[in-house]
Amino acid sequence: MEFIHTAPHSFLVVLVFGFGLLIGSFANVCIHRLPRKESVVFPGSHCPACSSAVRPWDNIPVFSYILLGGKCRDCAKSISAIYPAIEAITAALLLAGFFKFGMSFDFAVYIVVAPALVIITAIDIEHQIIPDVITLPGIVLGLAVGTYSIGYIDSMLGFFIGGGLFYLLAVLSNGGMGGGDIKYIAAAGAWLGWQKVLLVIFTGALLGSIVGLFQIAMQNKSRKSLIPFGPFLAVGTLITLFYGDSLIQLYLDFLGW
Ligand SMILES: [Zn+2]
Repeated sequence: MEFIHTAPHSFLVVLVFGFGLLIGSFANVCIHRLPRKESVVFPGSHCPACSSAVRPWDNIPVFSYILLGGKCRDCAKSISAIYPAIEAITAALLLAGFFKFGMSFDFAVYIVVAPALVIITAIDIEHQIIPDVITLPGIVLGLAVGTYSIGYIDSMLGFFIGGGLFYLLAVLSNGGMGGGDIKYIAAAGAWLGWQKVLLVIFTGALLGSIVGLFQIAMQNKSRKSLIPFGPFLAVGTLITLFYGDSLIQLYLDFLGW
């Protein structure tokens, strides 16, 4: 991997962005198939309307969508703009992570986590679930990475405090908090430790409350209607990843510690 350290920065930026687009393309496959319990490998991509196989040259992230005018080459039905949006968002997130972490262990972990957050967000919005296929390996990865980077004790504390808190909320709210949320936050806690998992929960809940109140005000929605929590936890996780150290320091300064 020596070339990675000697390659010009602009080259790496293009490489990371292009890689992000490809990962985003795979994220689309996961978003569509994981909730349906289909394989994410076989068969290859096909049009959601007419099931025609997508030709390799029509399967270039974002660009093919633009070149085809957002329509299937075979049946001319419109293809949702969500697909290129997911690709662009994933690529932008990977690029942001590259600028934040550089070529490091943290970035290697981030390459796995950031697309997972995109997938979780999209699936939770559409299906109100966070699949076990993501959260259970996430817990294993969280414990492994956490033990390596923050130590076994902090990793376990994060796992139990995050997971335990949400489990308690699930019991108290009588089903207002899903099992997927509990597994997600346990994984995040194992990875980030007890302080940062509390920050994930705080920022997620804050964002969720703001959007929830806004929805009630705008659409006169009842407070009973279900707003999935996963997307807010995902955004809270990203905020914690990028600004967690500064935010925690700010809080400690505020307390005068
Ligand atoms: Zn078609």
